[in-house]
Amino acid sequence: MKTAELNIESVRKDFPILRQLMNGRPLVYLDNGATAQKPLQVLKAIEKFYKEQNANIHRGVHLLSQEATVAYEKARETVQKHINAAHPHEIIFTSGTTESVNLVAHTFAKKFLEKGDEILITEMEHHSNILPWQVACEEKGAVLKVAPVNDKGELIISEYEKLLTPKTKIVAIAHVSNTLGTINPVQEMIQAAHEKGIPVLIDGAQAIPHMKVDVRWLDADFYCFSGHKVFGPTGIGVLYGKEEWLNKLPNYKVGGGTIRTVTFKETEYGGLPIRFEAGTPNIDGVIGMAAALDYINGISMDAIHAYEHELLVYATERISGIKGVRIIGTAAEKAGVLSFVVEGMHPLDIGMLLDAQGVAVRTGHHCTQPLMERFKINGTVRASLAFYNTKEEIDVFAVALIKALQRL
Ligand code: PLP
Repeated sequence: MKTAELNIESVRKDFPILRQLMNGRPLVYLDNGATAQKPLQVLKAIEKFYKEQNANIHRGVHLLSQEATVAYEKARETVQKHINAAHPHEIIFTSGTTESVNLVAHTFAKKFLEKGDEILITEMEHHSNILPWQVACEEKGAVLKVAPVNDKGELIISEYEKLLTPKTKIVAIAHVSNTLGTINPVQEMIQAAHEKGIPVLIDGAQAIPHMKVDVRWLDADFYCFSGHKVFGPTGIGVLYGKEEWLNKLPNYKVGGGTIRTVTFKETEYGGLPIRFEAGTPNIDGVIGMAAALDYINGISMDAIHAYEHELLVYATERISGIKGVRIIGTAAEKAGVLSFVVEGMHPLDIGMLLDAQGVAVRTGHHCTQPLMERFKINGTVRASLAFYNTKEEIDVFAVALIKALQRL
């Protein structure tokens, strides 16, 4: 039995926040796509850092600074191993997915984008993987092209392939859609782009918490994710880039930590990864995120993936069986997300009625307004799962939803 691998009772003990009451009812936290909860192991790693290791990194001669530096760089190796990057210096710490995409969009456009060039994204992108490219296009007179999705919320691959033209300079795709849950066939999509010599950035914000990601198997040129969605702290994220690509990109933010030598006339910058990590970084964030990755690897990504799949199938059956509910996003390959609308009821009202019963979901456009336009809806109710959720919680959610639809 797949679920036997994941000891849910013991897992839930690691997340004290889940034991709370909300509006007088046990919390059922189904807003993991927005941010995930943090296990004690992450909280303890951050506490240990501040109790025993806190010092600024990289430039200190004293022992404490050296210890903090070792912890910080060890965390980089943890991330490297987690996504199977070839080198630790291919891991750049950023403040999150949004900053990672901005870093690439800004620097790539500066160096490689010209008037009339094209950037290809998809209809299901999060605003964080639209706006940086839109700005790049505006600045350079380039054109943003968008690969469409079908009614199930799957990318139409034949259309995507048609949009890969000699003018396409870079492709940026979500690995998993935060609104639909669709898992895109990114390995094949990357291969198709590479056949035409086009680099690909993957927005992995919603993939990393749910599945094993191997950037070398995918052959991704860039891969971005956020610490807080993978059970780590907020304000920390990752930009993975192939060494050859990161070396081609010009500077982004500059300042302390990025240099070899500075005079008032000129500056010689450092190599990877420090050239992209200006200023004192989010040291405790990095350490906390690495603890989160250690934690999920301790459970095993395969067990998490299998368990969540079971949970998603169960939730889909329960929720789609409720009268009036229409699921948005019915792709064959899905991860952890159940979005739906109910005719005649605003998603926000449903969200509030669920909240009154202790069930936390997200409502609205989920930072995917163009996708809402595609489905001709103003928003959805989105339940997003994590491995600490249970079938019993799904039952509570289903009963609460029925009550909400009857206006309690
Ligand atoms: N991309 C996707 C697919 C997301 O779901 C999100 C957040 O919800 C982001 C990007 C932005 O992540 P962050 O706000 O952590 O930068």
